[in-house]
Amino acid sequence: MKVLKFGGTSLGNEASIRQAKDIIFKNDSILVVVVSAVGKTTDDLNEAANFAKMGDSKYIDTFNQIHDLHVLLSERLCGKVLPELEEVFEKLLRVLEGVFLLKELTNRSLDFILGSGELLSSLIISNFLLAEGLSAKWFDSRKIILTDDQFGSANVHSFETDSNIKKAKHDFEVINVFAGFIAGTESHEITTLGRGGSDYTASLLAASLNAEIVEIWTDVNGIMTADPSKVKRSHTLDKVSYEEALELSHFGAKVIYAQSIAPVFKAGISVVVKNTFEPDMTGTFITSDENNNGSLIKGISSIDEVSVMSVSGNAALNKIDFFPRLFKVLADNQVEIIFMTHSNAEYTVTLGFKASEAKKALSFLKKEFRNKDESQVIHSEVLEEDYSLLALIGSKMKDQVGVSGKMFNVLGKNGISIKAISQGSSERNISAIIPKADLSKALNVLHESFFLSEMRRLNLFIIGAGNVGKAFLDQITGQFLFLKKHHHLNVKVIGVANSRKMAFQKDGIPLSKWQKYLDEGEVFSKEVFVETMNDVNFRNSIFIDITASEDISELYASILSQSISVVTPNKIAATRSFENYLELKAASRRYGSQFLIETNVCAGLPILSTLNDLIRSGDQVNKLEAVLSGTLNFLFNEYNGTISFADVIKKAKELGYSEPDPRLDISGEDVMRKLLILIRESTYEMEMDEIEITSFLPKSCTDSVDLDDFYHKIEQEEPYFKAIFEKAKAGNSRLKLVASFQNGKGRVALEEIPETHPFYQLEGKDNVVLFYTTRYAEQPLVIKGAGAGAEVTASGIFADVLRIAQSNN
Ligand code: ADP
Ligand code: ASP
Ligand code: MG
Repeated sequence: MKVLKFGGTSLGNEASIRQAKDIIFKNDSILVVVVSAVGKTTDDLNEAANFAKMGDSKYIDTFNQIHDLHVLLSERLCGKVLPELEEVFEKLLRVLEGVFLLKELTNRSLDFILGSGELLSSLIISNFLLAEGLSAKWFDSRKIILTDDQFGSANVHSFETDSNIKKAKHDFEVINVFAGFIAGTESHEITTLGRGGSDYTASLLAASLNAEIVEIWTDVNGIMTADPSKVKRSHTLDKVSYEEALELSHFGAKVIYAQSIAPVFKAGISVVVKNTFEPDMTGTFITSDENNNGSLIKGISSIDEVSVMSVSGNAALNKIDFFPRLFKVLADNQVEIIFMTHSNAEYTVTLGFKASEAKKALSFLKKEFRNKDESQVIHSEVLEEDYSLLALIGSKMKDQVGVSGKMFNVLGKNGISIKAISQGSSERNISAIIPKADLSKALNVLHESFFLSEMRRLNLFIIGAGNVGKAFLDQITGQFLFLKKHHHLNVKVIGVANSRKMAFQKDGIPLSKWQKYLDEGEVFSKEVFVETMNDVNFRNSIFIDITASEDISELYASILSQSISVVTPNKIAATRSFENYLELKAASRRYGSQFLIETNVCAGLPILSTLNDLIRSGDQVNKLEAVLSGTLNFLFNEYNGTISFADVIKKAKELGYSEPDPRLDISGEDVMRKLLILIRESTYEMEMDEIEITSFLPKSCTDSVDLDDFYHKIEQEEPYFKAIFEKAKAGNSRLKLVASFQNGKGRVALEEIPETHPFYQLEGKDNVVLFYTTRYAEQPLVIKGAGAGAEVTASGIFADVLRIAQSNN
């Protein structure tokens, strides 16, 4: 004998009920079929009851909707409107009218109202099966499943129920239909087993009948690693143990009702959860632990609406008695505590309640602790709303160290603050209370890190689509498949902007069409860009600033404190005051985000990453010598007196070697910024105005109004540039703008470099940095290569992005 339970999700309309019939039809053993109310009928009945309670006549509309749906199903499936249905409706309407008139809804009336849904569905389905030629019979669950009178979630009298079921067995036909969810008291009042309780009915029947198996037919392919409506990439588990199923369900996985586990567990009956709409999928088996050799972590569940109460017994006069009384009041009033932690030192307890229970809990406690001293301990402010509870579940977790470390690390890195943590004594769960607004992100990020470490998604928000921005977007477009295949990274551009427009796509802007999306985007606003980025609240988000804008650089601190990493070639933020630089570093440390600026110095050359490795491993930088401006290098390499210095500057700009405003390069300011960053990253404190600069520009060129004026003035000073060039040439030297740091002093100056010096041979737009450190004392560590250009800068940004992806692993 098998027990098949069909949930409301499997019985939503005529077609799905026919689907359920096909499943029943395929079996050749004696069947017990347990049905839920069709579709969302229980919710609708609840709505009607609440309208009536508020004295709102809309309850009649809702009632009519429920009525019409069932009449239609009865006509279609049974060929007529069953008279039994009208009987149920008549009584239901009378009770609703009573509630409406009295504006009072007791749990007793509510059970009567809600229970009508299963009565209706079971009557329709048993008659439908009969009409289809099956030998089917309807049984009255109200008389067979006996309970106490705790309406809303009644306790089953196991002994009587077991004997009733065994008695009913004598009257079994081939297919025996039971309404799930409903039960009755000894005095024949209708009770319910709690929302989701049809699974429990199935389990009770299976245990008493010693069924071969219980099949729970629903709308998903079994028990999944997370609720598929919240985590798109969740997947079905082949097997879970009874204990794991219980924990998953206890923490919110409504695919199976928690109470339904105990009877089958005791009787050793297996359960399979299957999809009515994909019956060929194997589904999930719930069996004993020994048969369950699955993975460490089985799933992640959540209870979405939770209120938290923190109470300190310290202020209570009678400390010893305080907590026992508190728990007794809650237990006596059937208020379930879903989460609890306590701190011995402060004598404080943090309790979590389902939001729907919290106010009730508070009012019982206020009543209990109402005398003067105690009312200071329990008052309205101790209750905080808008939290969620999430739990990581798996039997084998207890044998493994580091699970909670990983869990909290992942949450922390994604900026999710944790209100309270608890590890169940069964060691099958670790649960945490987090802000409700972060739930979706938390579930996804945990799911990704525990179940999909194979493939991770990176969400990029890019401002700046000029030369470097374009090159960067082209590079990720080109590398997309490679990254997916070889690095298991799914790179998505969620937002892109330039100074005029911006565009967003939650699922990622199609990479080959980013320009089109941007052109057709909305007007750019940096505030809206950041707001959108914060609102979507995606895990593994990276903000990439590819502008040279001061305005944008001012956003970093707040972005980093949202736990979003920042990658940028923009040097402004790192070269403002030293205090500001430290603040950015501190924000990134505090909020688990990263501030990566490799491309601030020499484009894509691995200068800062190497420097950071040296420092982290205990080395110390004693002296630096560097040629840091690819632009100036290019200028002095190209300039030979035949074309004007102004024209060479224009060429550097056209080729994308210079800053958008080449005056920043030529004035030496850009080199000063790079040197300052090198010094700061070498852990020395320094301000921009402490760097000594000897400008090589004649005075007339240092105060141009705009770029044209600047070119004009440079043109006028052509003889000067020619002269310094000729002088160096005469001494077999080349001109280089050299940046150095020694004995705590930073300097930038144009120098004539003789043939014997390593800087002499620097070609084109090459840069070089010589690190003299404690370990590299005699021979410096030299890093040399192309230090400017859109492609190499873009690849440096790319490298920083991948660095973040790796460290988030
Ligand atoms: P039924 O009407 O069949 O009893 P329910 O709505 O009670 O169905 O339960 C099925 C739903 O449970 C699914 O549609 C899914 O959204 C939700 N659910 C929550 N957690 C899980 C999980 N871990 N695995 C599968 N489904 C889950
Ligand atoms: N129909 C009830 C509910 O929606 C019971 C069930 O579906 O298990 O809660
Ligand atoms: Mg259910």
